[in-house]
Amino acid sequence: MSEFKVMKEQLVEDFLTLVQIDSPSKDERGVADWLTARFKELGCEVVEDNAGEKIGGNTGNLKVKYKGNVPDVGALLFSSHMDTVEPARGVKPIVEGDLIRSGGDTILGADDKAGLTVILHLVRMANAQPDIPRPDLEFSIHISEEIGLLGSKGLDASDFKAIAGFVLDDHDIDGITTRSPSAARLTYIVHGKAAHAGVEPEKGINALKVASEAIAKMKLGRIDSETTANIGAIEGGTMSNVVLEKLTMKAEARSHDPAKLAAQIEHMDSCFEDACKAWRKDGSDLPRVEIQRHDDYMAVQLSADDYVVKLPSYAGKKLGLKMELKDSGGGTDGNILHQKGIPTTVLGVGMRDIHSTKEHIYIKDLVQSTELMGTILTSHAKGEVEA
Ligand SMILES: [Zn+2]
Repeated sequence: MSEFKVMKEQLVEDFLTLVQIDSPSKDERGVADWLTARFKELGCEVVEDNAGEKIGGNTGNLKVKYKGNVPDVGALLFSSHMDTVEPARGVKPIVEGDLIRSGGDTILGADDKAGLTVILHLVRMANAQPDIPRPDLEFSIHISEEIGLLGSKGLDASDFKAIAGFVLDDHDIDGITTRSPSAARLTYIVHGKAAHAGVEPEKGINALKVASEAIAKMKLGRIDSETTANIGAIEGGTMSNVVLEKLTMKAEARSHDPAKLAAQIEHMDSCFEDACKAWRKDGSDLPRVEIQRHDDYMAVQLSADDYVVKLPSYAGKKLGLKMELKDSGGGTDGNILHQKGIPTTVLGVGMRDIHSTKEHIYIKDLVQSTELMGTILTSHAKGEVEA
């Protein structure tokens, strides 16, 4: 049992309130204002940053601090995001016994209002049960996670002091995501030469022909158990009677191993470069490839010995949960917080069938997740897990 008692009615009420406040990405104002008011009335310090302005949104990230009664053990950070995917407007949650689902024409928004609800409840429980040991708490509440982790990327995390962070943005409560990949977005632009395709095709260089020779030799899809790569969009050409001058391709590569990621990118780059070189003649600089690279996020690789893994593992087992370590195929706000210096894992809050109109959550999962986070607080404050 967790020492902190979950106030189930309040928990469900907060969740139902939050899902009924529209908050598609870049339009999180309603949720931010509601949360700010709740956090302030419960005695938290709240700062809203200007990350929203930089991305054309109407809201910033919320940086929230709440004093503990055992401050010398080091602060813990919890994180969740305020935005949801579409169809996001006018959510009418339906409660059927232990189940909460959407009306069927929108998402529910448990992703990630379940996380927000649990975080708020940590403060509610600490207020209601002030004598239970707890550390200083920091909450990083993000905007625009769903459209490329834009809130966390724009966050200045330097005023957070937490020694461990937990992103509450996953399904299963009995798992801990300890590894997630690095990813890079790549744009390849092959420059050929235009010419009339019927009159003097020999004066042209078809960029698609060059690119297809490069791609024929390229390893794509699943590269190995840790690495994937894809070319996902192409654009180019004007008319059937013009030799195709310029072809733009959007690609990505991901790996749990940064060295493998670097090797895959180098392989893709050199396939294009070699194909261009093979085509060039008479000292011409065409065809050529222009390469743009954007590192999306850095890999997280934590082990069972890291405190940020040991602590939730210990707390979960106390509640009878398995707490299996798992990998994520994609990046999360956890990658970004980790990159910004806070060791971070991702924990589940019970959301199901997310990003669909079938999205739902069981109240018992929301309660159990809150108990788990509460137990993380007490176990940490009492020093029950060796750092
Ligand atoms: Zn999410």
